[in-house]
Amino acid sequence: MPEGPEIRLAADSIAKALVSKKTTEVFFTYPHLKKFEKKLTGKKVVSVEPRGKAILTTFDNDLVIYSHNQLYGRWYVVTGDELPDTHRQLRLAIRNRGYSAFLYSASDIEVLKANQLLKHKFLSKLGPDLLSQKPGVGELLERLESAKYRNRQLGNLLLDQGFVAGLGNYLRAEILFRSRLHPRLRAVDCCRGDLERLATEMIRLTRRSYKTRGVINPPSLVRSLKAQGKTDKEQYRFSVYAREGEHCYICNDRIERIDSGGRHIYFCPNCQSLPG
Ligand SMILES: [Zn+2]
Repeated sequence: MPEGPEIRLAADSIAKALVSKKTTEVFFTYPHLKKFEKKLTGKKVVSVEPRGKAILTTFDNDLVIYSHNQLYGRWYVVTGDELPDTHRQLRLAIRNRGYSAFLYSASDIEVLKANQLLKHKFLSKLGPDLLSQKPGVGELLERLESAKYRNRQLGNLLLDQGFVAGLGNYLRAEILFRSRLHPRLRAVDCCRGDLERLATEMIRLTRRSYKTRGVINPPSLVRSLKAQGKTDKEQYRFSVYAREGEHCYICNDRIERIDSGGRHIYFCPNCQSLPG
């Protein structure tokens, strides 16, 4: 399941192909969207932006294509008249003179007016997007300390897209590890310094993952792991995620796993101890 940084990278490649260019064809598979094909053809794409796990493609006539990939959707960007090599079901095509962007398999596609976005059933419930709306430490602290969120366990809270948009399973584990906070802690159990560290790591690690295409470990640790022969990305990108039973890079204790809501949370019982 892609997390914020992966969705952002997908949006970047679609934006590169479409933004500031007039479309030559817009195609929808679903009959109820066919009426928008004419309205969007010959129009310029103004922006392509992720919101949580959805992508918003905005045109210069104030219409926006909302698409959510769910589990199966996938975008392909190709040059000229090429067609992607796939057996998936085509749902949406946006073409211009140089490029085509195709969305396959996604079932959640809508065309909205820009002013309808705020009331949209999914978008209206989303917290600030860590990569596109860029909330600062202060805003995240305010949310962490609010009556709505302060009594929730951090391990669950970080995955709640209403709290912040863009975090998934690997970022949750790595953020809590770097913040030295146990997943079962609630904001109300933490001191100001803990929460400041948490807010800072949420921002920092999400941006790092975007820049490095998913490498969360600090560059110095990555260099030393590579020097030890761990040259596959999966061997050097994480400190705790999917490393159950392996040694912690900081304290040498063994990484553990707890199961919560059908998903695994990985953590170091020593670096992220529960007080008391
Ligand atoms: Zn440790």
